Amino acid sequence: PSILSDRISALQESQTIAMAKKARELMAQGIDVINLSFGEPDFETPEYIREAAKKAMDAGYTKYTPVPGYPDLRQAIADKLQRENQLAYKPENIVVSTGAKQALANAVMSLVNPGDEVIVFAPYWVSYEEMVRLAEGVTVTLLGTLENDYKVTAAQLEAAITPRTKLIMYSSPCNPTGSVFTRQELSGIAEVVARHPRIHVLADEIYEYINFVGEHVSLAQFGDIKDRVITVNGFSKGYAMTGWRVGYLAATREIAAACEKMQSQITSGTCSVAQRAALAALQGGRTSADTMVEAYRRRRDMVLTQVQEIPGFKTPTPSGAFYIFPDVSAYFGRTAPDGSRISTATDLALYMLNEGHVAAVTGEAFGAPNCIRFSTAASDEKLREAFTRIKACLEKLG
Ligand code: PLP
Repeated sequence: PSILSDRISALQESQTIAMAKKARELMAQGIDVINLSFGEPDFETPEYIREAAKKAMDAGYTKYTPVPGYPDLRQAIADKLQRENQLAYKPENIVVSTGAKQALANAVMSLVNPGDEVIVFAPYWVSYEEMVRLAEGVTVTLLGTLENDYKVTAAQLEAAITPRTKLIMYSSPCNPTGSVFTRQELSGIAEVVARHPRIHVLADEIYEYINFVGEHVSLAQFGDIKDRVITVNGFSKGYAMTGWRVGYLAATREIAAACEKMQSQITSGTCSVAQRAALAALQGGRTSADTMVEAYRRRRDMVLTQVQEIPGFKTPTPSGAFYIFPDVSAYFGRTAPDGSRISTATDLALYMLNEGHVAAVTGEAFGAPNCIRFSTAASDEKLREAFTRIKACLEKLG
């Protein structure tokens, strides 16, 4: 028997991280792999943010920080939520965490009892399901259709609710699909939630700034359910600050206090220097993000053109984030030159890595087994080369 706990044995390794590991192994053998598996901006953190961090170090920001974040950072986040999202929160409603990931985990741990059902809109971000598992909740996945840009509808949601439903989790803009819920769609979701007073919603808005259609709508804007919405956001994507590990949530004081308690026993406050950098990021506004978004939009258009030339790949046009998520099921049942059969998206992703030297992530990791996720956060040149290689290696399938 294993010495490890049942809890950790049941947990899956993140498949995005697993694929990146495989890609790195091939690279270590000297193979030129194009890695489109990672959800990471390829931009450097803007200089004004890096400068603020350097100054913070010399100014003595080197000690333990308050568990829920520095007061001025929490105030700046509250101001941002008011200014950009029309959401009124006080600093006491904000908990700063080690990435949006910890904010999500804190909220799940604070709300979910063993046996509670958590409705997760699929395709979903890889970690949602495992967080629910750690909390001993039961994940109920709802898969949107390709025709509806993979967005779950209010009717689908209503039909999935049971007396055990405790929480709903979704991201918009969505990782992995790039879909963005419209105001009207979220209004429908909000109406369903309003009818079920026990249900809370974890709205993951980490890709807020990376939006090609314009309007970002926060579910908490629907006032009658605001107290039951936990809004998660952070600095990783919009400010290209993945390594700094700063995210946050906004919720009622009761829920924020619970998340703070959780965090106080697991990690304490987020890194001092990173918090000062995050404050500077907010003070600088959206200008740096807007510049990056233009690049993401251009790449999306370029990649879409190439993907549309690949027979059998079916993909909606992403409205945000930096991924493309084609349905590749037309290739299931085909045979690789070495005689092996491609039966799943995982088989195809591995084939593309080994044959085409392009790393991507199987849709199985996102609850969408017909799809593969490619990150478009790479240089134009790399993206062009990657999809040329993919097309060529798919042509070799029998
Ligand atoms: N939520 C979604 C949908 C993500 O894609 C990611 C990162 O990949 C996160 C949350 C986590 O963000 P952070 O790096 O701030 O922890």
